[in-house]
Amino acid sequence: MSEENRFGDEFDLYDLKVETIENPERKPFICNHPVGSFFEVKGENIYFPPGQPFPLYPIAALLPLLPAKQRQTHKNDWMTTDMVIACPDPNCGGLFKITRTGKSSFRHKEVTAVSLKKRNEDKESI
Ligand SMILES: [Zn+2]
Repeated sequence: MSEENRFGDEFDLYDLKVETIENPERKPFICNHPVGSFFEVKGENIYFPPGQPFPLYPIAALLPLLPAKQRQTHKNDWMTTDMVIACPDPNCGGLFKITRTGKSSFRHKEVTAVSLKKRNEDKESI
């Protein structure tokens, strides 16, 4: 067994950084997300720099994408290639770049109460 999966129930997720980037069309920002403001995602946790706010509505729009960006995707999948998401406020020029910054390993039994054995039994009954 490899060192990467020494416990047999490990899996990797990408660590993410979501950063406000410059709008190439110079459309002004309405929300409080200046260029360079960011947050990071590691596993189930979101980390904000101390004292740096980030507006609620862009976070709400970004949240559904983050678990998919954390996972390995096919090279032809748009989820692999597309990294820039627009602010949900139609009057705001805010753009957010999602970058995969690294990988973290997690153990299945530490992140869920569903056993791998139970999952495999369900799969066999289909
Ligand atoms: Zn905005």
